[in-house]
Amino acid sequence: NRRFVLAAHPQGLPTPQDVRLETTPVPEPGEGQVLLRTLYLSLDPYMRNLMDEVGPVYAPAVPLGEVMVGGTVNRVVASRHPGFKAGDLVLGNAGWQDYALSDGSDLIALGDMAEPSHALGGLGMPGFTAHLGLLDIGQPKPGETVVVAAATGAVGAAVGQIAKLRGARVVGIVGGEDKRRYALDELGFDVCLDRRDPQFAEQLAQACADGIDVYFENVGGEVFDAVLPLLNIGARVPVCGIIAHYNDKTAPAGPDRVPQLMSAILQKRIRVQGFIILDHYGERFDAFRREMGAWVERGEVKLREDRIDGLENAPQAFIGLLQGHNFGKLVVRVGED
Ligand code: NDP
Repeated sequence: NRRFVLAAHPQGLPTPQDVRLETTPVPEPGEGQVLLRTLYLSLDPYMRNLMDEVGPVYAPAVPLGEVMVGGTVNRVVASRHPGFKAGDLVLGNAGWQDYALSDGSDLIALGDMAEPSHALGGLGMPGFTAHLGLLDIGQPKPGETVVVAAATGAVGAAVGQIAKLRGARVVGIVGGEDKRRYALDELGFDVCLDRRDPQFAEQLAQACADGIDVYFENVGGEVFDAVLPLLNIGARVPVCGIIAHYNDKTAPAGPDRVPQLMSAILQKRIRVQGFIILDHYGERFDAFRREMGAWVERGEVKLREDRIDGLENAPQAFIGLLQGHNFGKLVVRVGED
Protein backbone atom coordinates (compact mmCIF):
# COMPACT_ATOMS: atom_id res chain seq x y z
CA ASN A 1 0.00 0.00 0.00
CA ARG A 2 1.48 3.30 -1.14
CA ARG A 3 0.31 6.37 0.75
CA PHE A 4 1.14 10.04 1.01
CA VAL A 5 1.34 11.47 4.51
CA LEU A 6 1.68 15.11 5.52
CA ALA A 7 5.39 15.71 6.18
CA ALA A 8 5.38 19.46 6.88
CA HIS A 9 2.95 22.36 7.06
CA PRO A 10 3.43 24.32 3.82
CA GLN A 11 4.79 27.84 3.97
CA GLY A 12 2.86 29.52 1.18
CA LEU A 13 2.52 27.40 -1.95
CA PRO A 14 3.08 23.72 -1.00
CA THR A 15 6.23 21.97 -2.23
CA PRO A 16 6.57 18.25 -3.05
CA GLN A 17 8.52 17.86 0.24
CA ASP A 18 5.45 18.81 2.27
CA VAL A 19 4.13 15.28 1.68
CA ARG A 20 6.00 11.96 1.95
CA LEU A 21 5.39 8.69 0.11
CA GLU A 22 5.36 5.64 2.39
CA THR A 23 4.75 1.96 1.80
CA THR A 24 2.78 -0.04 4.36
CA PRO A 25 1.17 -3.50 4.33
CA VAL A 26 -2.35 -3.67 2.89
CA PRO A 27 -4.62 -3.66 5.97
CA GLU A 28 -7.01 -6.51 6.87
CA PRO A 29 -10.67 -5.59 7.41
CA GLY A 30 -11.95 -6.22 10.94
CA GLU A 31 -15.53 -7.14 11.83
CA GLY A 32 -17.90 -4.55 10.33
CA GLN A 33 -15.22 -3.13 8.01
CA VAL A 34 -14.57 -3.13 4.27
CA LEU A 35 -11.24 -3.01 2.47
CA LEU A 36 -11.23 -0.45 -0.34
CA ARG A 37 -9.03 -0.23 -3.42
CA THR A 38 -8.78 3.33 -4.72
CA LEU A 39 -9.54 3.75 -8.40
CA TYR A 40 -9.72 7.56 -8.50
CA LEU A 41 -8.57 10.23 -6.06
CA SER A 42 -10.08 13.71 -6.17
CA LEU A 43 -7.71 16.65 -5.70
CA ASP A 44 -9.48 19.73 -4.36
CA PRO A 45 -8.48 23.21 -3.19
CA TYR A 46 -9.77 22.65 0.38
CA MET A 47 -6.91 20.20 0.97
CA ARG A 48 -4.53 23.15 1.16
CA ASN A 49 -6.41 24.48 4.21
CA LEU A 50 -6.20 21.08 5.90
CA MET A 51 -2.39 21.09 5.57
CA ASP A 52 -1.99 24.11 7.86
CA GLU A 53 -1.09 23.62 11.51
CA VAL A 54 -4.40 25.11 12.54
CA GLY A 55 -7.02 23.81 10.15
CA PRO A 56 -10.18 25.54 8.95
CA VAL A 57 -13.29 25.88 11.10
CA TYR A 58 -15.23 23.29 9.12
CA ALA A 59 -12.86 20.29 9.28
CA PRO A 60 -9.90 19.06 11.34
CA ALA A 61 -6.40 19.65 10.00
CA VAL A 62 -4.39 16.62 8.82
CA PRO A 63 -1.88 15.84 11.61
CA LEU A 64 1.79 15.51 10.61
CA GLY A 65 2.57 11.91 9.63
CA GLU A 66 -1.08 11.11 8.82
CA VAL A 67 -2.47 10.20 5.41
CA MET A 68 -3.61 13.15 3.29
CA VAL A 69 -7.40 13.17 3.18
CA GLY A 70 -9.37 13.07 -0.04
CA GLY A 71 -12.57 11.92 -1.69
CA THR A 72 -12.17 8.72 -3.72
CA VAL A 73 -13.95 6.25 -5.97
CA ASN A 74 -13.21 2.78 -4.67
CA ARG A 75 -13.78 -0.87 -5.45
CA VAL A 76 -14.63 -2.98 -2.40
CA VAL A 77 -12.04 -5.79 -2.43
CA ALA A 78 -13.09 -7.54 0.80
CA SER A 79 -16.04 -6.99 3.07
CA ARG A 80 -16.96 -7.92 6.62
CA HIS A 81 -19.82 -5.44 6.53
CA PRO A 82 -23.38 -6.61 5.81
CA GLY A 83 -24.13 -3.64 3.55
CA PHE A 84 -21.25 -4.14 1.09
CA LYS A 85 -19.77 -7.00 -0.90
CA ALA A 86 -16.55 -7.48 -2.81
CA GLY A 87 -16.83 -5.87 -6.23
CA ASP A 88 -19.10 -2.98 -5.17
CA LEU A 89 -18.21 0.43 -6.56
CA VAL A 90 -18.43 3.15 -3.90
CA LEU A 91 -17.74 6.81 -3.27
CA GLY A 92 -15.47 7.03 -0.24
CA ASN A 93 -12.85 9.03 1.60
CA ALA A 94 -9.81 6.79 1.33
CA GLY A 95 -7.40 9.70 0.92
CA TRP A 96 -4.09 9.72 -0.94
CA GLN A 97 -3.40 5.97 -0.84
CA ASP A 98 -3.94 2.69 -2.68
CA TYR A 99 -5.98 0.88 -0.02
CA ALA A 100 -8.03 1.93 3.01
CA LEU A 101 -10.43 0.52 5.56
CA SER A 102 -13.91 1.90 6.18
CA ASP A 103 -16.72 1.06 8.59
CA GLY A 104 -19.14 1.85 5.77
CA SER A 105 -20.66 4.95 7.37
CA ASP A 106 -18.97 7.30 4.89
CA LEU A 107 -19.58 5.21 1.76
CA ILE A 108 -22.14 5.90 -0.97
CA ALA A 109 -22.91 3.05 -3.41
CA LEU A 110 -22.35 4.08 -7.03
CA GLY A 111 -23.96 1.08 -8.74
CA ASP A 112 -22.86 0.67 -12.37
CA MET A 113 -21.88 4.23 -13.10
CA ALA A 114 -20.62 4.69 -16.66
CA GLU A 115 -17.94 7.25 -15.72
CA PRO A 116 -17.32 6.65 -12.01
CA SER A 117 -14.80 9.49 -11.70
CA HIS A 118 -17.60 11.97 -12.41
CA ALA A 119 -18.83 11.12 -8.91
CA LEU A 120 -15.86 13.22 -7.73
CA GLY A 121 -16.65 16.12 -10.04
CA GLY A 122 -19.77 17.46 -11.69
CA LEU A 123 -21.95 14.65 -10.35
CA GLY A 124 -20.35 14.81 -6.90
CA MET A 125 -19.11 17.28 -4.30
CA PRO A 126 -18.06 20.15 -6.63
CA GLY A 127 -21.21 19.89 -8.76
CA PHE A 128 -23.34 19.81 -5.60
CA THR A 129 -21.48 22.88 -4.34
CA ALA A 130 -22.22 24.76 -7.55
CA HIS A 131 -25.88 23.74 -7.60
CA LEU A 132 -26.62 24.58 -3.98
CA GLY A 133 -24.57 27.77 -3.80
CA LEU A 134 -25.95 29.18 -7.03
CA LEU A 135 -29.60 28.21 -6.66
CA ASP A 136 -30.10 28.57 -2.89
CA ILE A 137 -27.98 31.66 -2.29
CA GLY A 138 -27.36 33.20 -5.72
CA GLN A 139 -30.96 32.74 -6.91
CA PRO A 140 -30.34 33.94 -10.47
CA LYS A 141 -33.35 35.17 -12.42
CA PRO A 142 -33.76 35.14 -16.21
CA GLY A 143 -31.84 37.99 -17.79
CA GLU A 144 -29.70 38.70 -14.74
CA THR A 145 -25.91 38.78 -15.01
CA VAL A 146 -24.04 36.03 -13.17
CA VAL A 147 -20.25 36.26 -12.83
CA VAL A 148 -18.11 33.28 -11.87
CA ALA A 149 -14.33 32.79 -11.80
CA ALA A 150 -12.32 29.56 -12.05
CA ALA A 151 -15.04 29.17 -14.66
CA THR A 152 -13.76 26.01 -16.36
CA GLY A 153 -12.99 24.31 -13.04
CA ALA A 154 -15.09 21.70 -11.29
CA VAL A 155 -17.35 24.15 -9.46
CA GLY A 156 -17.24 27.13 -11.82
CA ALA A 157 -18.16 25.23 -15.00
CA ALA A 158 -21.23 23.83 -13.27
CA VAL A 159 -22.19 27.24 -11.87
CA GLY A 160 -22.07 28.86 -15.30
CA GLN A 161 -23.94 26.09 -17.06
CA ILE A 162 -26.69 25.90 -14.43
CA ALA A 163 -27.03 29.69 -14.53
CA LYS A 164 -27.48 29.47 -18.31
CA LEU A 165 -30.18 26.82 -17.83
CA ARG A 166 -31.92 29.30 -15.52
CA GLY A 167 -31.89 31.93 -18.26
CA ALA A 168 -29.17 34.14 -16.83
CA ARG A 169 -26.42 35.89 -18.76
CA VAL A 170 -23.10 34.36 -17.75
CA VAL A 171 -19.73 36.07 -17.60
CA GLY A 172 -16.92 33.63 -16.87
CA ILE A 173 -13.42 34.50 -15.68
CA VAL A 174 -10.50 32.12 -16.29
CA GLY A 175 -6.72 32.01 -16.47
CA GLY A 176 -5.63 31.45 -20.07
CA GLU A 177 -6.86 31.60 -23.66
CA ASP A 178 -7.53 27.85 -24.02
CA LYS A 179 -9.89 27.95 -21.04
CA ARG A 180 -11.50 31.13 -22.35
CA ARG A 181 -12.27 29.56 -25.72
CA TYR A 182 -13.63 26.42 -24.08
CA ALA A 183 -16.00 28.42 -21.85
CA LEU A 184 -17.35 30.27 -24.89
CA ASP A 185 -17.44 27.44 -27.44
CA GLU A 186 -18.27 24.40 -25.32
CA LEU A 187 -19.92 25.71 -22.16
CA GLY A 188 -21.92 28.40 -23.96
CA PHE A 189 -21.04 31.31 -21.68
CA ASP A 190 -21.97 34.72 -23.03
CA VAL A 191 -18.63 36.31 -22.22
CA CYS A 192 -15.40 34.94 -20.83
CA LEU A 193 -12.42 37.01 -19.70
CA ASP A 194 -8.82 36.20 -18.84
CA ARG A 195 -8.05 37.32 -15.29
CA ARG A 196 -4.37 37.71 -16.22
CA ASP A 197 -5.06 40.31 -18.93
CA PRO A 198 -3.70 43.71 -17.82
CA GLN A 199 -7.02 45.24 -18.95
CA PHE A 200 -9.09 42.66 -17.03
CA ALA A 201 -10.89 45.12 -14.70
CA GLU A 202 -11.89 47.40 -17.60
CA GLN A 203 -13.01 44.40 -19.67
CA LEU A 204 -15.18 43.18 -16.81
CA ALA A 205 -16.79 46.61 -16.42
CA GLN A 206 -17.52 46.64 -20.14
CA ALA A 207 -18.91 43.10 -20.12
CA CYS A 208 -21.16 43.99 -17.18
CA ALA A 209 -22.48 47.32 -18.39
CA ASP A 210 -25.73 46.71 -16.47
CA GLY A 211 -23.86 45.60 -13.36
CA ILE A 212 -23.57 42.21 -11.66
CA ASP A 213 -26.58 40.56 -10.00
CA VAL A 214 -24.91 37.36 -8.80
CA TYR A 215 -21.21 36.96 -8.13
CA PHE A 216 -20.37 33.37 -7.28
CA GLU A 217 -17.16 33.83 -5.28
CA ASN A 218 -14.61 31.09 -6.00
CA VAL A 219 -11.35 33.01 -5.90
CA GLY A 220 -11.21 36.37 -4.06
CA GLY A 221 -8.07 38.44 -4.71
CA GLU A 222 -7.88 40.74 -7.73
CA VAL A 223 -11.00 39.25 -9.27
CA PHE A 224 -13.07 40.33 -6.29
CA ASP A 225 -11.50 43.80 -6.42
CA ALA A 226 -12.73 44.15 -10.01
CA VAL A 227 -16.19 42.76 -9.19
CA LEU A 228 -17.01 44.82 -6.08
CA PRO A 229 -17.67 48.20 -7.76
CA LEU A 230 -19.90 46.51 -10.34
CA LEU A 231 -22.31 44.78 -7.94
CA ASN A 232 -25.91 45.93 -8.37
CA ILE A 233 -28.37 46.92 -5.68
CA GLY A 234 -29.70 43.67 -4.24
CA ALA A 235 -26.82 41.57 -5.61
CA ARG A 236 -26.21 38.13 -4.11
CA VAL A 237 -22.71 36.83 -3.41
CA PRO A 238 -22.50 33.14 -2.48
CA VAL A 239 -19.03 32.84 -0.93
CA CYS A 240 -17.79 29.40 -1.96
CA GLY A 241 -14.01 29.75 -1.90
CA ILE A 242 -11.14 32.24 -1.99
CA ILE A 243 -8.43 30.14 -3.60
CA ALA A 244 -6.31 33.21 -4.41
CA HIS A 245 -5.67 33.49 -0.64
CA TYR A 246 -5.12 29.87 0.41
CA ASN A 247 -1.34 30.26 0.23
CA ASP A 248 -1.23 33.69 1.91
CA LYS A 249 1.29 33.88 4.74
CA THR A 250 0.41 37.36 5.95
CA ALA A 251 -2.42 39.85 5.54
CA PRO A 252 -2.18 41.73 2.22
CA ALA A 253 -0.44 45.09 2.23
CA GLY A 254 -2.21 48.34 1.53
CA PRO A 255 -4.92 50.44 3.08
CA ASP A 256 -7.66 48.79 5.12
CA ARG A 257 -10.54 48.31 2.67
CA VAL A 258 -12.99 46.71 5.09
CA PRO A 259 -14.98 49.96 5.55
CA GLN A 260 -15.32 50.31 1.77
CA LEU A 261 -16.54 46.70 1.51
CA MET A 262 -19.02 47.05 4.36
CA SER A 263 -20.25 50.34 2.97
CA ALA A 264 -20.93 48.72 -0.43
CA ILE A 265 -22.77 45.82 1.26
CA LEU A 266 -24.84 48.31 3.25
CA GLN A 267 -25.66 50.85 0.57
CA LYS A 268 -26.37 48.34 -2.17
CA ARG A 269 -28.16 45.88 0.17
CA ILE A 270 -25.86 43.08 -1.03
CA ARG A 271 -26.40 39.61 0.41
CA VAL A 272 -23.03 37.92 1.07
CA GLN A 273 -23.35 34.38 2.37
CA GLY A 274 -20.71 31.74 2.92
CA PHE A 275 -21.57 28.04 2.82
CA ILE A 276 -19.81 24.73 3.38
CA ILE A 277 -21.17 21.89 1.32
CA LEU A 278 -20.51 19.30 4.06
CA ASP A 279 -23.55 20.75 5.88
CA HIS A 280 -25.93 19.87 3.08
CA TYR A 281 -25.56 16.16 2.31
CA GLY A 282 -28.50 13.99 3.29
CA GLU A 283 -31.66 14.39 1.24
CA ARG A 284 -30.37 17.31 -0.77
CA PHE A 285 -27.55 15.28 -2.35
CA ASP A 286 -29.85 12.68 -3.90
CA ALA A 287 -32.10 15.34 -5.38
CA PHE A 288 -29.03 17.10 -6.79
CA ARG A 289 -27.69 13.86 -8.30
CA ARG A 290 -30.98 13.18 -10.05
CA GLU A 291 -31.28 16.68 -11.51
CA MET A 292 -27.62 17.04 -12.51
CA GLY A 293 -27.55 13.46 -13.83
CA ALA A 294 -30.44 14.25 -16.16
CA TRP A 295 -28.79 17.46 -17.40
CA VAL A 296 -25.55 15.62 -18.12
CA GLU A 297 -27.38 12.77 -19.86
CA ARG A 298 -29.23 15.23 -22.09
CA GLY A 299 -25.98 17.05 -22.88
CA GLU A 300 -27.22 20.25 -21.23
CA VAL A 301 -24.32 20.25 -18.79
CA LYS A 302 -20.85 19.20 -19.95
CA LEU A 303 -18.26 17.77 -17.62
CA ARG A 304 -14.59 18.12 -18.27
CA GLU A 305 -11.98 16.18 -16.36
CA ASP A 306 -8.24 16.76 -16.04
CA ARG A 307 -7.06 13.23 -15.35
CA ILE A 308 -3.56 12.50 -14.02
CA ASP A 309 -2.18 8.97 -14.07
CA GLY A 310 -0.56 7.46 -10.99
CA LEU A 311 -0.73 8.23 -7.28
CA GLU A 312 2.95 9.24 -7.37
CA ASN A 313 1.97 12.29 -9.46
CA ALA A 314 -0.63 13.58 -6.98
CA PRO A 315 1.62 16.13 -5.20
CA GLN A 316 2.69 17.90 -8.40
CA ALA A 317 -0.87 17.91 -9.72
CA PHE A 318 -2.16 19.35 -6.45
CA ILE A 319 0.45 22.12 -6.46
CA GLY A 320 -0.58 22.86 -10.05
CA LEU A 321 -4.24 23.15 -9.02
CA LEU A 322 -3.34 26.01 -6.67
CA GLN A 323 -1.71 27.81 -9.62
CA GLY A 324 -4.42 27.25 -12.22
CA HIS A 325 -2.61 24.51 -14.16
CA ASN A 326 -5.61 22.16 -14.13
CA PHE A 327 -8.16 22.39 -16.93
CA GLY A 328 -11.36 20.80 -15.61
CA LYS A 329 -11.98 18.65 -12.55
CA LEU A 330 -8.62 17.35 -11.31
CA VAL A 331 -8.68 13.59 -10.69
CA VAL A 332 -5.87 11.08 -10.18
CA ARG A 333 -6.20 7.59 -11.63
CA VAL A 334 -4.74 5.53 -8.79
CA GLY A 335 -5.54 1.89 -9.50
CA GLU A 336 -6.67 -0.40 -12.29
CA ASP A 337 -10.26 -1.56 -12.00
P1 NDP B 1 -10.98 24.28 -9.82
O1 NDP B 1 -11.16 23.03 -10.59
O2 NDP B 1 -11.73 25.48 -10.27
O3 NDP B 1 -9.43 24.60 -9.72
C1 NDP B 1 -8.96 25.75 -9.08
C2 NDP B 1 -8.89 26.95 -10.06
O4 NDP B 1 -8.80 28.14 -9.32
C3 NDP B 1 -7.66 26.96 -10.93
O5 NDP B 1 -7.75 26.11 -12.04
C4 NDP B 1 -7.62 28.42 -11.35
O6 NDP B 1 -8.47 28.62 -12.46
C5 NDP B 1 -8.21 29.13 -10.15
N1 NDP B 1 -7.17 29.84 -9.40
C6 NDP B 1 -6.07 29.32 -8.83
N2 NDP B 1 -5.33 30.28 -8.27
C7 NDP B 1 -5.99 31.43 -8.47
C8 NDP B 1 -5.73 32.79 -8.13
N3 NDP B 1 -4.63 33.15 -7.45
N4 NDP B 1 -6.63 33.72 -8.51
C9 NDP B 1 -7.73 33.38 -9.19
N5 NDP B 1 -8.02 32.10 -9.55
C10 NDP B 1 -7.15 31.16 -9.20
O7 NDP B 1 -11.36 24.01 -8.29
P2 NDP B 1 -12.79 23.71 -7.68
O8 NDP B 1 -13.83 23.91 -8.72
O9 NDP B 1 -12.70 22.41 -7.00
O10 NDP B 1 -12.95 24.83 -6.55
C11 NDP B 1 -13.29 26.16 -6.88
C12 NDP B 1 -13.50 26.94 -5.58
O11 NDP B 1 -14.59 26.38 -4.85
C13 NDP B 1 -12.30 26.90 -4.62
O12 NDP B 1 -12.14 28.15 -4.02
C14 NDP B 1 -12.72 25.87 -3.58
O13 NDP B 1 -12.07 26.05 -2.36
C15 NDP B 1 -14.20 26.14 -3.50
N6 NDP B 1 -15.03 25.05 -2.97
C16 NDP B 1 -15.82 25.32 -1.87
C17 NDP B 1 -16.66 24.38 -1.34
C18 NDP B 1 -17.54 24.75 -0.19
O14 NDP B 1 -18.14 23.87 0.42
N7 NDP B 1 -17.66 26.02 0.14
C19 NDP B 1 -16.71 23.02 -1.90
C20 NDP B 1 -15.88 22.84 -3.09
C21 NDP B 1 -15.06 23.84 -3.58
P3 NDP B 1 -8.09 29.70 -13.62
O15 NDP B 1 -6.66 29.48 -13.97
O16 NDP B 1 -9.01 29.38 -14.72
O17 NDP B 1 -8.33 31.04 -13.04
